[in-house]
Amino acid sequence: MLHRVPHHSTKYISLDTRLCQACWKCVETCPNGVLDKVNLPFHKHARISWPDNCKGCQKCVRVCPEKAITLSQTNIHHNKEIA
Ligand code: SF4
Ligand code: SF4
Repeated sequence: MLHRVPHHSTKYISLDTRLCQACWKCVETCPNGVLDKVNLPFHKHARISWPDNCKGCQKCVRVCPEKAITLSQTNIHHNKEIA
């Protein structure tokens, strides 16, 4: 059985679910289907379900009004170079 382990980051971005207000903009914006919804009563936030699909386009970082998605620390230098 496939067991999905929750991810907090991809190679390029990190998601802080404590800041997430579940507006779903990032889920709708990501062109690669990396992000998904946890949409339970009293428990709603974005989650990273398919981290390997992330291409580092940073669209989710720019669209999040809560700054819940940030560049991964390990790739900040690299991301700045490609930005
Ligand atoms: S950086 Fe781009 S590909 Fe990666 S999760 Fe964000 S929107 Fe999707
Ligand atoms: S855009 Fe930000 S606040 Fe909205 S669902 Fe995504 S992480 Fe949460």
